[in-house]
Amino acid sequence: MSSTIMKQILVDMDGVLADIYAHLIAYEYRESGILLNQQELNGKLEGEAFPSFEKVVRSKGFFRTAPVMEYSVEGLNYLNNKYKVLIVSSATEFPDSLTEKLAWLNEHFPFISWKQMIFCGSKDSICGDIMIDDHIKNLGSFPGRKILYTQPQNALIQDPSLERVNTWQEIVGML
Ligand SMILES: [Mg+2]
Repeated sequence: MSSTIMKQILVDMDGVLADIYAHLIAYEYRESGILLNQQELNGKLEGEAFPSFEKVVRSKGFFRTAPVMEYSVEGLNYLNNKYKVLIVSSATEFPDSLTEKLAWLNEHFPFISWKQMIFCGSKDSICGDIMIDDHIKNLGSFPGRKILYTQPQNALIQDPSLERVNTWQEIVGML
């Protein structure tokens, strides 16, 4: 019997598995006619950057129809064979997102079982060895290895305690 214990890795959904910025940009344009570009979004939290954010994230179907981040299916499948993967998403802030996120994961990541999905509020009680997230508020208090997935809201952050990645190919290359 192998004595190797698989490391537990926590993977965020929005901004890591789901290309939520592309989705927000498209929704914002549809809602208000404002077409935002990357530059205008840098350094601002989503709620500040997108005038229609509060309405959009509470609209039916928003999370269910989010585009999948490039190479994330292959990347997560790779991690899932090597680590104990948990998908951790702060979903209770937007209660309608719970069923949408579950259906979205089942459609796009069928190799992830229901036992690996944690839809929570704050993430600071979830244990793991490695965390991949795009938000400092989640990585900040995490005691393990912290991997920051680049998104416009975190683009200006420089923090040596974080390992920044820009693509899923980079994640696969380092883990
Ligand atoms: Mg996120």
